[in-house]
Amino acid sequence: MVTKKKMTLTTKVLIGMALGILAGLAINFAGLNAEGTFVGDNIVNGLFLIIGKMFVTALKMLVVPLVFFSLISGVLGIGDINVLGKVGAKSFVLYMLTTAIAIAVAITIAAVIGIGEGAHLTSTAAFTGKEAPPLSAVLIDIIPGNVVNAMALGKMLQLIFFSILLGISILMVGKKAEPVVKLIEIGNEIMMNMVNIIMAVAPYAVFALIAKALANLGLGLLADLAGYVIVLVAALMIHLFVTLMAILKLFSGMSPKTFLKKMKDTQVFAFSTSSSNATIPVTLRTVTERLGVDNSVASFTVPFGATINMDGTAIMQGVATVFIANAYGVDLGITGYLTVIMMSVLASIGTAGVPGVGLIMLSMVFTQVGLPVEGIGLILGVDRLLDMIRTAVNVSGDATVSVIVAKSEKKFDPEVYNDPTAGNLTSDDVHIDPKIEEELAEVVDLLHEKK
Ligand code: ASP
Repeated sequence: MVTKKKMTLTTKVLIGMALGILAGLAINFAGLNAEGTFVGDNIVNGLFLIIGKMFVTALKMLVVPLVFFSLISGVLGIGDINVLGKVGAKSFVLYMLTTAIAIAVAITIAAVIGIGEGAHLTSTAAFTGKEAPPLSAVLIDIIPGNVVNAMALGKMLQLIFFSILLGISILMVGKKAEPVVKLIEIGNEIMMNMVNIIMAVAPYAVFALIAKALANLGLGLLADLAGYVIVLVAALMIHLFVTLMAILKLFSGMSPKTFLKKMKDTQVFAFSTSSSNATIPVTLRTVTERLGVDNSVASFTVPFGATINMDGTAIMQGVATVFIANAYGVDLGITGYLTVIMMSVLASIGTAGVPGVGLIMLSMVFTQVGLPVEGIGLILGVDRLLDMIRTAVNVSGDATVSVIVAKSEKKFDPEVYNDPTAGNLTSDDVHIDPKIEEELAEVVDLLHEKK
């Protein structure tokens, strides 16, 4: 009998994305997305919106329990607490460094090209900014005053802090804590299965999310701001394909080609959800099961990176600063630009990876260097699409640093990294084995009888 080869999830997700782009653009060109039309009301802002929102919410639902279980199990599995400190320090330095390089390169490219010079643009939308919280507040906010509250609000740094502390405390209890260790390990495995279940519907959700975003995109606006968009996208691509891959090769010696191949679906998830945070379950799965990073490192570096590492966002801030400064005829000078670099790196620590947060961070930067915050209104219209692209760059940065740190701490399996099929998901992987089901039912019966 010839068995048909099952299509992998990656292939399906890529098909979903391609069809989503086509459908979205077709709807936009035909003007079918308008309010009051059947397609606009029932398909784009009806069906697509519902499917997309349900999917992103389901991903978000996974984040807190997944990070909780995997991080504690990571701490338990790391063996040596000193390693934990080293993983933390290395990833922090690398995250800050890559973000600083990203924004410096972006500012340089934008300044050399001189984007926005002589532009006579009018704001298309009003934008009110936010002031940057002082560093002291960011630091204090790492400690959760109430763990349940931190979990309820999905405060990632607080959750990381508590989970690590809990992991260490379990280690201190030692052998007596064995049942808890088992519970955590099994909890981690259960959550990973939940990720697989949600991912099985991803191709359809990705289609809906992308089709909706593109259908509602102001393509006319895109043309008006072509200079800004082109320079920004070019800077993002340079960072992803040149800077990050050079850093990966240099520090880990691993193949950038393999990395990019295996990151494809994670990037599509980031692209379609515009949220590094919501993508955490997928990034964590890819980094551990496809790129060979041990969970003891990935369970920390991935959620940590989703929160503090935003290379793509920093690039947007660099290009936008030059663009708006030029459009308003403000000369920021070297010190101004250095302040911009420092501010965006700092702002990235205190803000989570959720859709559109980049613009809020930008307003913090503008307030600091004295650029008009209303200027952000100029780029607001095209930000939706750019947010999608920069989020894909953000999660790629998280994965790059995860591989480098894991490799340097020998918490890395090159065989998994180099195996093209490792961690591939097909529809066959998401099922309940009838035999296992029976066994489990027996266990439950036995427990009931004991009572
Ligand atoms: N959406 C981005 C992220 O989640 C942040 C941003 O640039 O707005 O990484």
